[in-house]
Amino acid sequence: MKKMQFKTESAKLLDMMINSIYTHKEIFLRELISNASDALDKLYFRSLTDDGVSISRADLAININIDKEGKILKISDNGCGMSEGELEENLGTIAKSGSFDFKRDNDQGEDVDVIGQFGVGFYSAFMVADRITVKTRVWGEAVGHMWESSGADGYEIGECDKESFGTEIILHIKDDEDGESYSDFLDEYRIRGLVKKYSDYIRYPIKMAVTKTLPNESGEYETTSEVETLNSMVPLWKKNRSEVEAEEYNRFYSEKYYDFQPPARVITQKSEGTATYNALLFIPESAPFNYYTPDHEKGLELYSSGVMIMECCKDLLPDYFGFVRGIVDSQDLSLNISREMLQHDRQLKIIAKAIEKKIKSELVLMMESDREKYEKFFGEFGLQIKYGVYSDYGMHKDMLKDLLIFKSSAGKYLSLKQYTEGMKSEQEAIYYASGESVERIEMLPKVEKAKNLGYEVLYLTDEVDEFAIRVLESYNEKKFVNVTSDAFESNSEENQEEIKEENDKNSDMLDFMKDAVGSISAVKLTSSLGNHPVCLSAEGEISSEMEKVLRKMPGAKDGAPKATIIMEINREHPIYEKLKALYASDKDALSKYAKMLYAQGRLIGGMEIEDPAELCALMSELMMK
Ligand code: ADP
Ligand code: MG
Repeated sequence: MKKMQFKTESAKLLDMMINSIYTHKEIFLRELISNASDALDKLYFRSLTDDGVSISRADLAININIDKEGKILKISDNGCGMSEGELEENLGTIAKSGSFDFKRDNDQGEDVDVIGQFGVGFYSAFMVADRITVKTRVWGEAVGHMWESSGADGYEIGECDKESFGTEIILHIKDDEDGESYSDFLDEYRIRGLVKKYSDYIRYPIKMAVTKTLPNESGEYETTSEVETLNSMVPLWKKNRSEVEAEEYNRFYSEKYYDFQPPARVITQKSEGTATYNALLFIPESAPFNYYTPDHEKGLELYSSGVMIMECCKDLLPDYFGFVRGIVDSQDLSLNISREMLQHDRQLKIIAKAIEKKIKSELVLMMESDREKYEKFFGEFGLQIKYGVYSDYGMHKDMLKDLLIFKSSAGKYLSLKQYTEGMKSEQEAIYYASGESVERIEMLPKVEKAKNLGYEVLYLTDEVDEFAIRVLESYNEKKFVNVTSDAFESNSEENQEEIKEENDKNSDMLDFMKDAVGSISAVKLTSSLGNHPVCLSAEGEISSEMEKVLRKMPGAKDGAPKATIIMEINREHPIYEKLKALYASDKDALSKYAKMLYAQGRLIGGMEIEDPAELCALMSELMMK
């Protein structure tokens, strides 16, 4: 057997690679700038380790030149440069990364954070250039070398004059084609925009001559050209929290996200270990106007060693924390990675998980240390968190249950932890009631009853609330019980025996009333309803509030599951005596009373009246008596 090398059709390979890796042509600039930045890093590193090389970090820079007429875009640096051999190695071999080797061979110091690693970025320039010339000279060497290629048919290498050390990448920009404008990349404004977008946090200045038309002293307009640094260089997220003024974070936030209100909370995270990254996150003060619509896109901006790779990376945030904005920068992620690949990236998943935990712990902190702010926050984004509890079959409930707060009968917001800590010793369950508003809930006879018995009641006013509570099932081993359900009765009644006896004694009458109403499952006697003669409660899984929500869902109407309703009559109310009397003397009247009582129960429970015409007729009849 003979060992052979694969032969590669490099022209085809090059073409395939260029056109399949990159979705946007514009990223070529990011790639070349990243390479220049790496070259500067390498030279700086040499100066630290080699006494023969003296260089000041302040002198290191990247320059961009545009020659519109000559259709040339030039990116130059005064970095390490390449020898003839290196030119051949690095630019003559696809997927050969000098930067990767450099990282492998050098114990990386604090200040060296090289970007390149795959050895393909350079070739992306062929997406916009039909010919590329590279002139380069290694620090301390006398002659420079040149590399030139038109892509498909190989490259040429030779000696050349080069005044100073470093590398010049000269792109001969393609002619415009139908539907594809390459001259765009010779436009000052466009280049400037691309530097800002992708390379703003490259640690060396990226300079370019910028033309300006300004009035001179005599008021005439004059066009001048001035070299400007285009990038802001220092990534705020890499600085230590203690070195940054709150004001600086706020300014950064408002410029980036066009929000005139400062963020409710700034979260910073530096992580080393299974994943190395820096995150700078913000919780907005208010929900954007489109927050609860499909237009809103969640996601964080993703950087790899200071270079932007994705503007809105969805996979970094779970839906329930979709309100968080910000930036994640990780050196573990490579620049040349497609969206599809990123989705399956293990590293990214680890980062996402850690970020999720961090956001949660910051919210808990906020809840504990700045309650007022948290309540405002919850007013804006709490709904999202409740949906989170309910969604995916309750998969996230443990992550989210401690973030929930509800208004309570004590007139303030309580977390579930606070509620359970404040429970009476004999109280077995967490009591709640739901309705469309606090006012409506407070009208419910059972709420009044629970309060009279000395229990605190959580008020659930959002449609999703009761569904979320059902998914939670319990908190701190205390079950949730709706005070309008039969489960509350059996939990709270002291004189249960007595009531049961009375129910049994009157069962004929109660059955008669049930049949008169029709759509309920039972009529029962109860006590402690105060002034209310009647109230409706639900037994089983579905409460009447839930039924309302379910019925509203598109296409549900009649198919939606229904609450099983029980009509409870207050045996301490004078009406009860009247009912008993009628059962003996006038069953027809009792049947009408039963219907009217049922309607009352629905009204006070915020439910629709099933047959308003019948109710009105019954009332008029009664008035005329
Ligand atoms: P990567 O950056 O992932 O290594 P590239 O295709 O972008 O891959 O670059 C290939 C190699 O060419 C780099 O690793 C580096 O060794 C070399 N190189 C590219 N540009 C420069 C430059 N401006 N100065 C010095 N070396 C460079
Ligand atoms: Mg590169």
